[in-house]
Amino acid sequence: MPLTSDQYLRYARHLTLPEFGEAGQEKLLKSSVLLIGAGGLGSPLALYLAAAGVGRLGIMDFDVVDVSNLQRQVIHRTQDVGTSKAKSAKRGVQDLNPGCVVDIYEEGITSANALEIIAKYDIVIDGTDNFPTRYLVNDACVFLNKVNIYGSIYRFEGQATVFDTRKKADGTRNGPCYRCLYPEPPPPGEVPSCAEGGVLGILPGTIAMIQATEAIKVLSGMGKTLAGRFLRYDAMNMTFRELKLRPDPTCPVCSAKPTITQLIDYQQFCGMGRGETAVNSENLEISTTDYAALREAGKEHLLLDVREPFELGICQIEGNLNIPLGQLPGRLGELAAWKDKLVVAQCKSGRRSMKALETLKKHGFSNVLNLTGGILGWGEDIDPSISAY
Ligand SMILES: [Zn+2]
Repeated sequence: MPLTSDQYLRYARHLTLPEFGEAGQEKLLKSSVLLIGAGGLGSPLALYLAAAGVGRLGIMDFDVVDVSNLQRQVIHRTQDVGTSKAKSAKRGVQDLNPGCVVDIYEEGITSANALEIIAKYDIVIDGTDNFPTRYLVNDACVFLNKVNIYGSIYRFEGQATVFDTRKKADGTRNGPCYRCLYPEPPPPGEVPSCAEGGVLGILPGTIAMIQATEAIKVLSGMGKTLAGRFLRYDAMNMTFRELKLRPDPTCPVCSAKPTITQLIDYQQFCGMGRGETAVNSENLEISTTDYAALREAGKEHLLLDVREPFELGICQIEGNLNIPLGQLPGRLGELAAWKDKLVVAQCKSGRRSMKALETLKKHGFSNVLNLTGGILGWGEDIDPSISAY
């Protein structure tokens, strides 16, 4: 379909590029991209892809805008705090380019909905930061022959690549998949999230722009993509490094003889279900309701909050002792009196406190428990005055 006169004006700078031109713009206008997450990566992605003229965007996010998101999630405005991120992102896209069709999904991606939703789009960009979603999106994209544009961010560093497992004419694939790179998920709690470790607000913008560039190249059929190359970006030293990625001939999903041919339970695969994060076979978890009952009964215990001091300024459970996780090994002396008594460790979500339990157990603390879901779980289940952050 030829471009309209409005489109000639809007995309004039693309049309001037001989490598892109009218043919490239027409391809973009006919294309569709699914953004999983309208957060740090999804926000700039949605804006730039819409501006460039991608015809249809799917935006998937079950969360609402929080004031702490605004440091990097630039599609949302201060007045959007408390509203659905998917709706807020749709508003942002349509303000910028009313010609872009936006489908929103106010839900998380799951094994039950992934295939149906992903099938409707040409490419998928996963902007979430959890392992079950990464494996789920990877497998679904391999099964559906879709390109998956990968990006991840943490503190001052980011990574990006293109998982393009589409088959070429000779039956081989264009490149490796996420499982070729990471065959096994890391142990739960080993890799901290941005919520725990922080992130420079600009960093997701840089990584999202790399993802958006790759998306536009894939969609318009121009240039050489990052398929088979893994880009690492260090904002602190302003360096980009590139690693070669090769398909794993034994990959369970993308090799010639796959052992996984349908979606699985990814929470279980990553060992990350709430309450299932015990570091070993012992059950070291205490639920929020059990802990509330224990407090109610006045049972003697120490509540050890291993978050950073600034987080206690946001919210805390009364009567805690605060020793940030990183300082714990050097401050065990302060806990000497509790070696044989009950210590309940707590952090934001239950991951750092599980690491703290490992340290305590290694040093002979015999009666330790992890508050399941951390202070966020406590806020959800017990004390609504706790502010989520
Ligand atoms: Zn693979």
